[in-house]
Amino acid sequence: MDLFDLSGHVSIVTGGNRGIGFGLARGLAQANASVAIWARDLAKADEAVERLDGIGKGEVVAVGCDVSDERSVGDALEATVDRLGKVDSVFANAGVTSGVTFPDMELSELEHVFEVNVAGVFLVAREVARHLIARDAPGSIVITSSIAANRGNPTAPHYSASKGAATALARALAVRLARHRIRVNVIAPGWVATEMTDDLQGNERFEDALRFRVPLRRWGTAEDFEGAAVFLASPASAYMTGTELVIDGGYSAF
Ligand code: NAP
Repeated sequence: MDLFDLSGHVSIVTGGNRGIGFGLARGLAQANASVAIWARDLAKADEAVERLDGIGKGEVVAVGCDVSDERSVGDALEATVDRLGKVDSVFANAGVTSGVTFPDMELSELEHVFEVNVAGVFLVAREVARHLIARDAPGSIVITSSIAANRGNPTAPHYSASKGAATALARALAVRLARHRIRVNVIAPGWVATEMTDDLQGNERFEDALRFRVPLRRWGTAEDFEGAAVFLASPASAYMTGTELVIDGGYSAF
């Protein structure tokens, strides 16, 4: 269906070399978009490119980038435009957390999480917005936040706070950038089986709690994000900005 065809569309997925980001990149590639996978681990990004090779009509490339570093983000955008010609959408998805609980947590833990989850999102969104405005082209910016933004998470308050900031940033950017035909939306995942949640997968107590708390009674997977990526990058979501797509198996509804 044309509404969901991304032929000729170029997208960036930060943190696209694994986990949720890989799911987003796979969805976009299947819909025929060209995709630039940005991550620090370039070898792993090259592997992701190999896995996506030939699944759609577009080109998939790997670009090294540390989203918390202003120069690195600028260089990565330049490299992407050099290789793919332009950018139409970006998924600011790279994110981190850490397992130190409050009040043992050092300030540096919070700072590190904010550098990636908030400053990183800000830098990526800003560079892509500048590129779109310079081209006078419409675009879509999608930020991976978390349902943790709206819940009292006792084990990672710094992470929750960073995701609250990312969601608030998205709303503000949506209002600011609408005049340029640039939409800004949030994907809010629930519990997803990725490296980030490695320590909880297989933990019997957690698995029991998850089956009780999540109405769909399973972990989310990277594949669960493929359709959302296509929807939010494509004209199918043309009148949607400043809002949140919750993908959590019903957790927030319960
Ligand atoms: P993941 O498997 O740990 O992947 C994190 C990704 O971020 C990796 O690709 C990593 O690549 C990249 N990354 C980290 N720091 C970076 C930096 N400074 N610069 C560039 N890339 C960086 O985690 P995930 O579960 O897929 O998480 C993806 C997003 O979903 C995150 O924003 C996370 O907060 C959010 N989320 C996850 C869950 C969940 O249950 N898994 C729930 C809600 C929200 P490199 O290490 O190679 O750079």
